[in-house]
Order: sequence, then C-alpha cells, then structure tokens
Amino acid sequence: MGYHELAHAVLRIVIDKDKHLLGELRGAYDLAKGNEFWETSDPIDYMSEYWAAGVTAYFSVYWHRDEIQIQRGDLQNQDEKLFDLIDGFFNDELNWKPECPE
Ligand SMILES: [Zn+2]
Repeated sequence: MGYHELAHAVLRIVIDKDKHLLGELRGAYDLAKGNEFWETSDPIDYMSEYWAAGVTAYFSVYWHRDEIQIQRGDLQNQDEKLFDLIDGFFNDELNWKPECPE
C-alpha cells in the first residue's frame, strides 16, 4: 500500500505540474487502453490508478492481478512505454527491490 500511495503523491506533487511528463503519461495511458494486458483490470479506469499500478509493478511490491503479482519484468514486457517512463522518472540505477522481512 505504501508504494501505491507514494505513486499517487508523486503524480499530484510532481507530474501534474510537469507538462512534458504529464503528456508522456497521458500518451502511455491512451495506448494502454487498447492493450489487453490492462484491458480488464481496474487500474485502467483512471490514469492515476494506471500510474500507481505501474509504479507498484515496477518495484514488484503490490499490484496483484488474478492472484498473480505483477512484477517488473511483466510491466517491461507488456507496457514498455509506461515502464520507460517510470524507469526514467525513478532513475533506478541500483536496480533496488524491497524484500519483505521473514
Ligand atoms: Zn489508488
């Protein structure tokens, strides 16, 4: 849940105020509406949820669909435009991924 809400905050505080980024996100979202990976999922109903689901998938932490957790590689394979946008935004050079405590 933390990453999902963080993604919403980033969208409101940063991306909403950046015309270029917002345009990129809108472009990815419009394309994703015709992508069967997203088609039947809840996040596709709103651009903000699409973004949040993308971020959580990117960090492989939250978004479960059909009881399968969507991982970074799935996002990269299925929605490269959103993946690249998120990857560029978070500039994930360390390839860091959280691990749940035992
Ligand atoms: Zn949300």
